[in-house]
Amino acid sequence: MTRPRIKVLALGGTIATRPDASGAMQMGLGADDLVAAVPILATLAEIDAETVSRVGSHSLGFDQIHALAARIAALEVDGVVVTQGTDTLEETSFLLDLLLDRDIPVIVTAAMRNPALTSPDGPGNLLAAVRVACDPWVRAHARALGVMVVMLDEVYAAADVLKVHPTRLNAFAAPQAGPLAALVEDRVVPLALPVRDAIVVARARLGDASGGKESPVALLWLGLDEPGYLLEAIVDHRDQLGYRGVVLGAMGGGHVPERATPLVVRLAGIVPTVVSPRAGGGPMLRQTYGGPSSEIALRKAGLIWGGRLHPLKARVLLETCLRAGLGRATIAEVFDAFG
Ligand code: ASP
Repeated sequence: MTRPRIKVLALGGTIATRPDASGAMQMGLGADDLVAAVPILATLAEIDAETVSRVGSHSLGFDQIHALAARIAALEVDGVVVTQGTDTLEETSFLLDLLLDRDIPVIVTAAMRNPALTSPDGPGNLLAAVRVACDPWVRAHARALGVMVVMLDEVYAAADVLKVHPTRLNAFAAPQAGPLAALVEDRVVPLALPVRDAIVVARARLGDASGGKESPVALLWLGLDEPGYLLEAIVDHRDQLGYRGVVLGAMGGGHVPERATPLVVRLAGIVPTVVSPRAGGGPMLRQTYGGPSSEIALRKAGLIWGGRLHPLKARVLLETCLRAGLGRATIAEVFDAFG
């Protein structure tokens, strides 16, 4: 049987580090090194490895992920595995999912434990990602699955996966939706298909988002008794600050502190402002609570309702909408599709 052709694209991250003379871990390994560390890969797939960059994922940018998506869109292969750092994987994988509409598996993986530690997880995660990319069920449902993240033998939808711990090995989860599949021995055990209606709506509105200009979005977390001085700074100095949109990590089902409400409302009149759940995702309320700082009044005042996305993913989506040149009403429709 012919082996599937799998492209491995390496961006950097802990999975690609090696120790310097002081023992500090530095970016260094390329895609060939990662593949060479897992000899069994050659029996599963025809691997073509390419080093795209050697940077920590905390330093990746929107432009780089747009360029990566364009590269993946043009590849003639049976599957793609991207390796990168874990720090922004929940954002980059979601952006790839918004930009790519391919019928081959596209998988992002990484490592929490670096190669100098006992039992690093990078080689196992790369092997699992390639196994998932080669699996017949995954290949048959690739478009329905969208971009996937494989960590510790679990497969997650890019729209749902979150990094839920800064250091431990099992740092990834999809708290709202759970995993799409599990890897057991060498078998992929399917568990679910993701609900992708919102991604389909977003893609239809976004069109070709790749040509647009960087459109910085501020992410502001609203805590107890927040006075809103940063909101005021954006209201008064938007042009100097350069932000084109704002995502508010809001309380509960969509509430903000009452003292900050007038500023939140003024802000929404100046730049597209999305209210997103600081609880970390999950559908928000629309018509339960009254009063000026709750969902009914905020929605009436023109705040865009974030839906089930985590605020980090809402920020990625808003940047992508603004880059694509969408106006406020269309942006609201896109977010609305996320429930
Ligand atoms: N700072 C690293 C990165 O995201 C951490 C990691 O890979 O886990 O690139």
